[in-house]
Formats: sequence, C-alpha cells, structure tokens
Amino acid sequence: MKTYSTGELAKACKVSVRTVQYYDKEGIVVPSQLSVGGRRIYSEDDFKKFHCVCLYKSLGFSLEDIKKIMETEDTYDLLLEVIMKQQEKISDEIHTLEKTKEKLNMVKEEIDNTGTLRLESLDEMEALLDKKRKHRKTDIMTYIFMGCYVLILFVGFPITVSVGGIYPFVMLIIAITLLLGLIFYHSGVNAYICPSCHEKFPIGFFKDMFTLNGGSKGKYLKCSHCGHRGWMKESFPE
Ligand SMILES: [Zn+2]
Repeated sequence: MKTYSTGELAKACKVSVRTVQYYDKEGIVVPSQLSVGGRRIYSEDDFKKFHCVCLYKSLGFSLEDIKKIMETEDTYDLLLEVIMKQQEKISDEIHTLEKTKEKLNMVKEEIDNTGTLRLESLDEMEALLDKKRKHRKTDIMTYIFMGCYVLILFVGFPITVSVGGIYPFVMLIIAITLLLGLIFYHSGVNAYICPSCHEKFPIGFFKDMFTLNGGSKGKYLKCSHCGHRGWMKESFPE
C-alpha cells in the first residue's frame, strides 16, 4: 500500500511542510504510522483526509471547524452549519468592503470636485456620505418626475386632445401641478462647486435645467461667492 512522507504529502497537496507538521500537531491529520527514526508516514486514507482538509481550508473554514468536521461521524449536518456560517461571514465582509469602496469613491470625488479635502474626522466623512446618498436619491426622483412630464407632454396630451371635452384641461392641470412639484422638490437640492474659491453655491430649478451642460465637466456657471465664470461640478448644498 502506498505511503507518503511529510514532504511528499506537502508536495501533492501544494502546501508547505510546516503546514503538514502543524496539522499533525493540532490533531487535524495525524499520520497513522511513525518510522523507526520517528518520521511521519501517511497512509492513503491520511492522504485523502489531508486533501479534504485542504478543500475546507480553501472554502475559508476555520481550523477549529475543520477539526470538528473531521472528528464528527455525521459530517453533513455539521458541514452545512459551517457552510452557512461561512456564507454569513463572507456576506458581512462584502458589505464592509462595499462600504469602504463607497467611502473611497466619495473621498476621491470630493477631491476631484473641490481640488481639496476638507474632511477632518470620521464623523464628517459619514455625514458627507449621508448627504451624498440623499442627493443621489433626490436625483433619481427628479428623473422620475421628468419622465412623467415627458409622458404627459408627448403621450397624455395628444390622446386627451383627440378625445376632446374636459380631458385636455385636466391633463394641463396635471402637467402644471407636476411642474410646480418638480420645482418645489428640486429647490435646495443641487449646488455647484466653484473650482476657483472651492465654495459651494445653490442654483434654482430653471437655471439648473437651462444652463449649458458640459457633461463630465459640469455646467457653465458664475460663482455667487467670487464671481468666477467657468465649468462647475454638481454637488449638494452644505
Ligand atoms: Zn468662487
């Protein structure tokens, strides 16, 4: 029957000799024999067991859990339990990493937009992140409002005009209400950052809608603080 030395087992399983020795010391995979000189001799069963341990390790299981799985007769229930625990741990880690990524993006965006970083504490960063999230939500709401408006203008109106009677007037009232709602909702939501004095200034709905838009450059505006004219990036009010 084929047997394996520590080195052979390590090579076959692509781990270090120290790992094989460590698993023996921790009682996870103990060699079934020792040579006269005290060297570890692993049987075919030990070899399979070791492969199993490597598989569980690659799934991120802790050594403590692996040991429990290897010692338990009814492996599947315990295995499922460990898998679920591991899935939960990974979900938490992904969530934490995504939050960190969001913070990094926000700090980068802040430097890109203002040419400086005025954040001095974690609290300030959290507050800014909060404002940014809210701003994103209001942006989505504005697009929904505008989408409804376009629908009324190009679909609702022609239909109600063809039907006649009171319907075109009802549609007109809906359109006006929607426009007023949009103006009201939009006021105080957007601000622009001046690249010259790095200050933020809010602008009204119509100015925001009808100002020259340079895409990623921002909008061509005049700063209400220093009077500088140029491309200004969108932000949210302080
Ligand atoms: Zn300015």
